[in-house]
Formats: sequence, structure tokens, C-alpha cells
Amino acid sequence: MVHSATDILIIGGGIIGLLTAKFLSEEGHKVTLLERKQPAQESSWAGGGILSPLYPWRYPDSVNQLAQWGHQYYPTLANSLRQQTHIDPEYYQTGLLIAAPDEIDQAQTWAEKFGHSIGILDESETLCCEPRLKKPDPATIWLPDVANIRNPRLGQSLIKSVALSGVNIIPDTEVTQIVQSQGRITEVRTTNHTYSASQYLVAAGAWSSTLLKNILPDFPVYPMKGQMILFKTKPGEIKRMLLKEDRYIIPRKDGHTLFGSTLERVGFDKATSPTTKTELASIAQDWFPVLKTAPIVKHWAGLRPASPEGIPTIAQHPEIKNLFINAGHFRNGVILGAASAQLMSNLILSQTPIIDPTPYEIAPTL
Ligand SMILES: Cc1cc2nc3c(=O)[nH]c(=O)nc-3n(C[C@H](O)[C@H](O)[C@H](O)COP(=O)(O)OP(=O)(O)OC[C@H]3O[C@@H](n4cnc5c(N)ncnc54)[C@H](O)[C@@H]3O)c2cc1C
Repeated sequence: MVHSATDILIIGGGIIGLLTAKFLSEEGHKVTLLERKQPAQESSWAGGGILSPLYPWRYPDSVNQLAQWGHQYYPTLANSLRQQTHIDPEYYQTGLLIAAPDEIDQAQTWAEKFGHSIGILDESETLCCEPRLKKPDPATIWLPDVANIRNPRLGQSLIKSVALSGVNIIPDTEVTQIVQSQGRITEVRTTNHTYSASQYLVAAGAWSSTLLKNILPDFPVYPMKGQMILFKTKPGEIKRMLLKEDRYIIPRKDGHTLFGSTLERVGFDKATSPTTKTELASIAQDWFPVLKTAPIVKHWAGLRPASPEGIPTIAQHPEIKNLFINAGHFRNGVILGAASAQLMSNLILSQTPIIDPTPYEIAPTL
């Protein structure tokens, strides 16, 4: 039996699928979301929730434009999710310190271009900002308006919000085949039933290439593992996010403090390693000696949907007009997710796009 009472069928219940479902359902469309396991449990659960690309000036404008939209939208989103669902995603504006002394000029140019506040702090100013840091650099980049959000809570509040607006979330349903005929997708087969819709969206994160292997064999998204550890500290003990040599610390409102992360290209392997746990803990404790007495309460890994230059694909398939893709957000899917989902919704509904969609189109095959 084919289930077909839906306008748009979304495959994948991470932040990208959920946010796109939110925008589409708010426009009055009937949306069904198929999720292999439970929604918001993969990369979107595992991430740190820093609401900025890491070293944003290293990214092309196409990434920063999505980030900029998200930067402005997140306070409103977090507030409305809290009011609507009574689950607080804990938007927390701690600011972000970045130790990158050789990149101060690029950081200042970026801040001016995208309208961000920036300071360059000397050692004593950095210590004022973050008194428990052992050894501040002589010059640290300070982005006071960067916030973080608590991924698991953001996920749960989004699930509740889209369910309240009528989205049919179907968990434990893995799409095994996307069927096309005469230039259109006609149905998707799953481990349970077959579903059909007017339009289809693939938002399956790191698994998107697997799902699209017969339709877009060269789709350039692949898994990149990241391991994180979580300390239990006192609220306010660590005050600011700090990024240094590609590692970062993220304080949460209740005192939990995340430290991460690794970048490991090891396929779909989500195993954690005790050696990595020790390495991460030792760097964190070197930065912040107070963490030597803080228990590590969790250690996990997630699979980022890696893509060339971290530029996501947010596009209609060039030939199969009822197929859309929103995937490949790599290290920045939370901050890029809001604009990506809004843009995707614009494209599906043939509305004026919030930003120029050209940089996110599917690369033509050679
Ligand atoms: C350690 C780590 C730290 C990070 N830190 C940050 C950060 O600080 N800031 C930031 O912005 N981003 C961060 N990220 C990146 C961010 O988490 C991701 O870019 C984002 O979550 C991707 O969302 P997604 O919805 O595309 O993928 P996912 O969250 O992985 O969701 C994809 C979903 O699709 C489902 N699925 C897959 N195949 C199928 C199928 N065949 N049928 C049905 N369902 C399917 C999966 O089960 C999954 O639920 C981090 C990621 C990691 C791992």
C-alpha cells in the first residue's frame, strides 16, 4: 500500500529536516518527515551548538551569508520555541574568544563586512573576560555577540513545534529506495511502507550520498566523525567560549562544559576512543586547570555531513524537478540550518529566495 496524503515528503529528521519542515508547514503545506531512527539524535544531537562558523573568515561568503541570517534569527527562534513548546533550547550569549594571532587582519575585515562586533584583547583583558584561563595569548580575537544553543534541547523543542504545526513525523522508518520514472520521483520505499508525495526533500545529513547514490552518484557529502567530552562544572565557572588550535570549549547555562572536537574521516564509524577522551581532557585541563577536578560526565561522537569548503547543497535537482536536497552543512549545520531551511522552503514553494541560491546549487556532472 502506498501512503500518499502529503504535499512534501522529507527524508531525515535532523535539524535541517526539522527546520525545513517547520518553515513549510508554517506556509500551510502538509509535510511528512521520515526518520530512520528517532529524530534529532545524530549529528544534530552531537554538535556543540556554537552559533558561528569556527574561524568564520576562513569560509567563503556563501557560508557567511547563511550564518549571518541565522545569527539574526536564532534569538527569536529560541524564544518562540521556548514559549510554544515549554522546552528551552538555552540560547546563551557567552561571546567567543579566538586565539588566532596570525589571523587578526582577516578577522577584522570579516567583522566589518558582516557587521559583527569585534575586539582584540591583550592578556589582562582576556583574563578579565575569562578569569580561569591559565595562559592567555598576547592578542586574542573577541566576538562578544556569538551565542551557543543546547543541541539536544533545540532538537526536542523543534520536534514538538513541528508536530504541533501538523507535521507527520514517522520515526523508525528508513528510506531504502527513491524511485524515479520519466524525470520525476514517484515514491520512496522504506523498511515499513511505500510513500508518495508531490515533492521530495533529502535532508539525511552524512547519509545523503548513500541515499542518492543512483540519482546523483557524485554527490560530494561524506561523514566526518567528531568526538566531544562533557565536564560537570559549577554554573559560571567557565564563562566564555574559547577556540584555539581547532579545539573549543563551550559553557552551558547550568554549568555543564563541552570540550571538542576531533575531525576523523573514518566512514560511518561512531565509536569513541578512550585515548581521544584522555587527549581532549588533557588539553581542556591545560587551558583551564579548574577542570582537573571536574568530572567528565559524558563522551560521545557524531558524524558531520562534510562537504567541499563546507558549502551545503540547497537545491532543486536540475532534471528531476520534484526532488530537492538540503545537505552538507559540515561543521556548521546549526548556525547555517535556519537560513538553509528557509531558502529550501522558498525554492520548494517557488517563492522569492531570502538569498541568492546560486552558490548552493548541485554541481553539474562532468
Ligand atoms: C562533534 C560535532 C560538533 C559540532 N559542532 C557544531 C557547532 O558548534 N555549530 C554548528 O553550527 N554545527 C556543529 N556541528 C555540525 C552540525 O551538528 C551538523 O552540520 C548538523 O547537525 C547537520 O544536520 P543534518 O540534519 O543535516 O544531519 P543529522 O543531524 O545527521 O540528521 C540526518 C538525519 O537523517 C536520518 N537519515 C539518514 N538516512 C536516512 C534514511 N535512509 N531514511 C530516513 N532517515 C535517514 C538520520 O538518522 C538523521 O537523523 C557539529 C557536529 C559534530 C558532530
